Amino acid sequence: MEFEDVGRHCELESCRRHDYLPFYCQDCQKYYCLDHREQVAHQCPVYLEKQKKEQEMIKSKRKSKPKAKVKKYPCGVEGCKKCNQVPIYCQKCGGNFCLAHRYPESHQCRSLLNNSLKLPIKQIVNKETNLFNRILRH
Ligand SMILES: [Zn+2]
Ligand SMILES: [Zn+2]
Ligand SMILES: [Zn+2]
Ligand SMILES: [Zn+2]
Repeated sequence: MEFEDVGRHCELESCRRHDYLPFYCQDCQKYYCLDHREQVAHQCPVYLEKQKKEQEMIKSKRKSKPKAKVKKYPCGVEGCKKCNQVPIYCQKCGGNFCLAHRYPESHQCRSLLNNSLKLPIKQIVNKETNLFNRILRH
């Protein structure tokens, strides 16, 4: 066995220096001498590719940043697709509703149902709600 078998040659084409303690590049999986151990020094193709992608990611992230998007407040009533630019909260249940549904009666407000029925709102049919309203008004 000759000394040449110990260690490795730097895998950089322009260098090929023999090194007893070569540095392994995790990215391109090759060995390099002390001078070329850095990814930048041996122009690591894998590393460069990674950097490129990262920069592209950063760029695309910047691009996809919302342009001061107007915040919208969708109506909490199921099936209602109206959105407000200003939140209209129900003082009883704290939900946000459109103009038409802002009153507890019109959005089947939980505060009206909680005491009597423990069913999810969507299972309550209008007739029943009206009944509750009548009871509550008594
Ligand atoms: Zn080298
Ligand atoms: Zn490398
Ligand atoms: Zn609505
Ligand atoms: Zn409510």
